[in-house]
Amino acid sequence: MSQPASWSVLNPQSLFSRARRARTAAEHEYWRILRPVADINSEEDWTTVCTTIYRDTGLSKNLISRNFQALDILDQLPRLKALVGETFLLDLYHLSVIAKAIGKAPTELQDDDYLWKVLDQDLMSLFTPKRPQQLLPGTRTINNTIADAIASVKALAAPQVPSPWGAPAPDLEDGPVPCEDPAATLRSLPPAEDAAQLSSLFIEQLEDDRVNFSLTVDQATGTLLRDVISQAASTRETSPAKALVKQLLEPISLTVNSLLYSASDVDDAPVYHPATGILNAEAAATLQDMVTRTLDMDAAQDAETTKHDMTFPQRAFVIGRDWTCRWPGCNAPATHLDGDHRINHEDGGPTRPDNMIMLCRHHHNRKTDVQATYLLDPVTGDVYWHFADGTYAVDLAAGPLTPRKKNWVQTYAQRTAAARTYAARKAAAEEFEQYQANLVPDDP
Ligand SMILES: [Zn+2]
Repeated sequence: MSQPASWSVLNPQSLFSRARRARTAAEHEYWRILRPVADINSEEDWTTVCTTIYRDTGLSKNLISRNFQALDILDQLPRLKALVGETFLLDLYHLSVIAKAIGKAPTELQDDDYLWKVLDQDLMSLFTPKRPQQLLPGTRTINNTIADAIASVKALAAPQVPSPWGAPAPDLEDGPVPCEDPAATLRSLPPAEDAAQLSSLFIEQLEDDRVNFSLTVDQATGTLLRDVISQAASTRETSPAKALVKQLLEPISLTVNSLLYSASDVDDAPVYHPATGILNAEAAATLQDMVTRTLDMDAAQDAETTKHDMTFPQRAFVIGRDWTCRWPGCNAPATHLDGDHRINHEDGGPTRPDNMIMLCRHHHNRKTDVQATYLLDPVTGDVYWHFADGTYAVDLAAGPLTPRKKNWVQTYAQRTAAARTYAARKAAAEEFEQYQANLVPDDP
């Protein structure tokens, strides 16, 4: 491919793209002017700022706080900030999506420089084009990239309390040596936050006579419930909420497959679930204990069937490669979508992953109407969309089975190991400091 990699939204040949760039540049300039020069230290300051801006612009407090927060987050990502300032690839909406996703990181992690370095690195990788006319990643891919980056350094947020299940003693080459003390007994009790992980169900009568149900469960249970609800919705061809109600009131028998993806050749490889993303260690262990069938995805990638529908392993591969509907800009999760034959089966197209992509029902119909056609790169899973007006754009596959994500798994394993060592050292140092502090009497 001789053409350089580029973003389709920055295409200088397109009037729409040029207009977008001008708008995004002006939007950045506008918000730079609105941003307060002095620090906002109190609720009163904040009210004054919002009132002044509302008076002069009519902007709502919600939008003001959303965009200021987005710009605060961008300030902590120097490489991404430089890229945005240079290209105007991301508008304030995209920056707010990024800010919101980063806001889900544990609070104690957000003070760690390492998290921001890792986020900056992974977001730069996401927002550096790999193909000419590459489509801007969808919000689901942006959210997943950030959630994965956070998961890769989560060990940094490990509680300073040793695991009640007896974590192995950290190997401390040159760190301080923790000393035995009576508080160890206390620390051997399960951490208090465990109480919050117990299942809870709140049922609340609303003012308009409706009833609100709020259920909180651990990640493994939640992941399984999610799979049951989406299977029920798919089988009953209705929304997840209606499917859940129907399944409780008029249960039918469902076959639910929960898919887990993990590299078998990498130590400490993350375990992915299509809806939850990278599972935490407990959920991964719980769900892996329930596995009844292990599929070889390399074999599935090359497998062919004479039937119209994909076999279960083929489908699992295409879901793990595509992760979402592949139509430009569609964020529908791939799990319950249709497999589309690039060359139709009746026209001799094989039922093989290199001739199949996942499309939601709506976009499957658009493709069948020949509003757009595509080519599929069999190695990377990238889809080259050709539109009726003669233009094209490239959608990068974002699932864990793509070569790019497989490489990232190595990064994940290295980061996890580094973060674990760092967290263990920090914990030991704090424990040692605490111990020393206890040796010194308060009133000599
Ligand atoms: Zn779609």
